[in-house]
Amino acid sequence: MKTHPEFEYPMHGFHPCSGCGNMAPHHSQVNYPDNGWSIPIDHLGYYGGFTDTNKADDSYTINLCHDCVLKFLETFPMIGLLIGKGGHSQIGPDEKPCCPWAWKLDKIENAYITYLASEDGQQWLAQ
Ligand SMILES: [Zn+2]
Repeated sequence: MKTHPEFEYPMHGFHPCSGCGNMAPHHSQVNYPDNGWSIPIDHLGYYGGFTDTNKADDSYTINLCHDCVLKFLETFPMIGLLIGKGGHSQIGPDEKPCCPWAWKLDKIENAYITYLASEDGQQWLAQ
C-alpha cells in the first residue's frame, strides 16, 4: 500500500479530516473518526468510475469528520435515507441531537430509554 502523508494521522486521538482538513477526534475507535466515516477509496468506484480499483498499490482510506459527513448527506439526501435513522450514538446529557442521524441512551431510575433524533434533528424522540 502506498502511503499518503497528507492522510496519515498521529495516534494521539486526532487525525486530519480528508474533507475539510480539520483535526477530527478518534477516541472511541483508534482507526475511525468519532461519528464520521472511514471509507477505503477502492470502495467508491470501479475501473473507469473515478477511482481505478486496479491500482491496489495506491490504495488509501478517506476519513471524514462528523460535519463533513453531514455536508455529504445534506448534498445527497437519498443516501441519507438509505442510511436510515440512528446512525451514530451521541454520548452525554445533550439536550439537543447533534444531527438527524443521532441516537442516545438515557437511564431514568432503573429503566433505559432509547432516543432518536427527530427528522429535522432539533429534538430527541423517545422510542
Ligand atoms: Zn471535515
